[in-house]
Amino acid sequence: MKTIRDFDLNNKKVIIRVDFNVPMKDGVITDDTRIKESLKTINYAISNNAKVILMSHLGRIKEESDKVKNTLKPVSIRLSELLNKKVIFIPNTRGSELENAINNLQNGDVLLMENTRFEDLPDKKESKNDPELGKYWASLGDIYINDAFGTAHRAHASNVGIASHLKSGIGFLIEKELDNLLPAINNPDRPFTVILGGSKVSDKIGIIENLVMKADYILIGGGMAFTFLKAGGVEIGDSLLDEDSIDFCKKMLKEHKDKLILPIDVVTNLKECFITDITKEEKGLDIGPKTVKLFKQYLDNSKTIIWNGPVGMFENDKYSNGTKGICEILKNIDAVKIAGGGDTASAVKNFGYEQAFTHISTGGGASLELLEGKELPGIAIIK
Ligand code: ADP
Ligand code: MG
Repeated sequence: MKTIRDFDLNNKKVIIRVDFNVPMKDGVITDDTRIKESLKTINYAISNNAKVILMSHLGRIKEESDKVKNTLKPVSIRLSELLNKKVIFIPNTRGSELENAINNLQNGDVLLMENTRFEDLPDKKESKNDPELGKYWASLGDIYINDAFGTAHRAHASNVGIASHLKSGIGFLIEKELDNLLPAINNPDRPFTVILGGSKVSDKIGIIENLVMKADYILIGGGMAFTFLKAGGVEIGDSLLDEDSIDFCKKMLKEHKDKLILPIDVVTNLKECFITDITKEEKGLDIGPKTVKLFKQYLDNSKTIIWNGPVGMFENDKYSNGTKGICEILKNIDAVKIAGGGDTASAVKNFGYEQAFTHISTGGGASLELLEGKELPGIAIIK
């Protein structure tokens, strides 16, 4: 697959699709991580004398009033500070102002176009990959670089649309994601252990089906463990149950009994106990310390570990020890260690264990689809 390094950018109009979908409150950026993560690709284009045209979405645009709070203007200001360089912001997604500004760019200049999703009014042109829109945006540049991993699992005009019409490659962020995730999933050093948690089994059926064939062990925690336990005949009280997934869990337990490792103890809203001692009115909200120890036995000799889904309701301090315990185990292991999924990534970071990982994937939905073994449209089109 082509990367930004494979092109001569000198004097070229280079469209870079970045992920500037930053959290905002009252027009102020509350976390600029995503802007910072895009700098490597942008700076590379600048130092190779490109005319840099940046595109990104921000939030969702369903009605006219959504535009005010989802303008990329504040992002252009923060980006300018971080680059220590002027960023030309164009408050439109098409038209003569945009076209003239692009035609006036000098080598090394940076222009940011307004939120691509402004084109979602009225007909979802961006989000439904309207062919005219992709073609029009492609006409503004000479080369297209996709570096927005977080939206690569969706076919939008600003990724698949443009890439259908221009010479295309990926940027450093997407390259790093693929370089870390694909070998771990498809060609892992063994033993290969997967830790799965989160709330619903139904959200993760694709991942379980794909990884159960590839992994040596799957350690199951979180809310989803209770549907597995129930399927195995355990009384789970008032714990989270994903009724529609019971048959799936039964089938998995039957076919992959030795691979699937379930919790043996639990922290409920009332006490800590063996999994068999949950009473009717109790809710299991975290894995217990004996389970953490059990999981440690598998993790300690693993060479590749992929983790998706917190093993407890980690947002509440009382039910965060299981998730913290896993972090602590991983910190002391020498292996390829990857965390993916929006909540998993934020748990790991909030608890201060970023350094314990080889790679923390930045794309929620996109990393889940890679774990499911799917090809991401925004990347497939470049291949
Ligand atoms: P990711 O975003 O990393 O893919 P998920 O969205 O699947 O992860 O799961 C995260 C959610 O699962 C969190 O909100 C957490 O509170 C919830 N969760 C974990 N364990 C439990 C549990 N035992 N009961 C209820 N919710 C749980
Ligand atoms: Mg989530």
